[in-house]
Amino acid sequence: MGKSTSIRKEDSMIRQKQMLAKQFLELSQVKETGKKVVYTFVPGNLTELILSFDMLPVYPEINALQSGMRKKSGDYISEAEELGYSEDVCSYVKCDIGMMVSGNVGPTGQKLPPPDLLLLSYTGCFVFMKWFENLRALYDGVPVAMLHVPYQGGGAMNDTVVNYVIEQLEAEVIPKLEQVSGKRFDSDRLKTMMEQSAEAEELMVKVFESAKHVPSPVDAYFGGVYYVGPIFTAFRGTEDCVRYYDELYKEVETRRKEGKGPICPEGEIDERFRVVVEGPPNWTHFREFWKIFYDLGAVFVASSYTRVGGIYDEGFRHESSDPLKSMAKYCMGCYTNLSLPQRIDLLGRLLKEYQADGLLVNSIKSCNSFSAGQLVIMRELQKRLGIPVGFIESDLVDPRYYSYSNIKNRIDSFFQMLDQRKQMGVMD
Ligand code: SF4
Repeated sequence: MGKSTSIRKEDSMIRQKQMLAKQFLELSQVKETGKKVVYTFVPGNLTELILSFDMLPVYPEINALQSGMRKKSGDYISEAEELGYSEDVCSYVKCDIGMMVSGNVGPTGQKLPPPDLLLLSYTGCFVFMKWFENLRALYDGVPVAMLHVPYQGGGAMNDTVVNYVIEQLEAEVIPKLEQVSGKRFDSDRLKTMMEQSAEAEELMVKVFESAKHVPSPVDAYFGGVYYVGPIFTAFRGTEDCVRYYDELYKEVETRRKEGKGPICPEGEIDERFRVVVEGPPNWTHFREFWKIFYDLGAVFVASSYTRVGGIYDEGFRHESSDPLKSMAKYCMGCYTNLSLPQRIDLLGRLLKEYQADGLLVNSIKSCNSFSAGQLVIMRELQKRLGIPVGFIESDLVDPRYYSYSNIKNRIDSFFQMLDQRKQMGVMD
């Protein structure tokens, strides 16, 4: 493992940074351009639809995670707690509200414009609804469009629920987008965007599936955060997005053919362990957290987190033949909208298909949507597959809940267990 003090970056990361810079610049210029701004959420987002009206999306949870990475979230959370938000409220919500009342300066240092529309198309987590109730209070008079996406409690989608979502798109969401943008819905434009979405999704799946190779050329958790960025947020449906994934896939293919491991900020990871991880990463100490695994030679070959903004490796693609139907299915298919048995089956499949040595669970204090049921997931997968399972606790953006020594101790014990099994030949 070569150590290096400078941060290593892939070309696609630089391209992604440029795409983000352009997006935030556009947001900072809406007074001059007259473009309308839609605040919405990542899981179950309607990005192509928003872009087809030439509106600009803003994702509050992305701003929160960016604030976490830039060490600003602690102050924003304190701001929100001073306003009366309790310690138990999701730290994304407090970070976002704290950022707004502190001037609403986004991750690039440019001020974010206020919303012209609050589009609540959340999936799986009731907190999203309360979050927007609070934003509505902050932005008095801003129109709200709500898309109710049924939870997959029964473990499957059926025509009734798909049609229920389509009807809301037609009767509630599209009319509000027309009203706020002043433009008519253009179904041909949306269809073209769906085709571009599908092209990018196809490439992204290939990138993640390259982790089936030993050694894996990608890290599907820490690296995966970058890989899902454009598709999960403001770029799905654009040519830029397709170009990004095309470039990324070529980079990954080159590494795979050369037998190289993933690139992390410390350098290239020399794969010793292959792990599947459940739960989001911690953002406040992202690099330090990743380095713990780099030092151990641990590569995350699959993660549930990279499925929170859509599950594509089971065949779903956005479709131009019936765009509203495919949007409805997309919304319902996001990871946090799945029932517990569906999540267990999915993780079990990933552990087997990606030849993982074990499962690591990162239990996030703020996020019940992920954390509720994780102990059941662990027990069930241990029983079904006989694999070792590790458990750590942290938070998304509240630095008070990240303890390096606790996390490191638990990770070390987990990997000692994996190491012993390797030496005994249990995993061969
Ligand atoms: S509780 Fe979890 S899923 Fe819900 S808004 Fe917070 S971070 Fe997102």
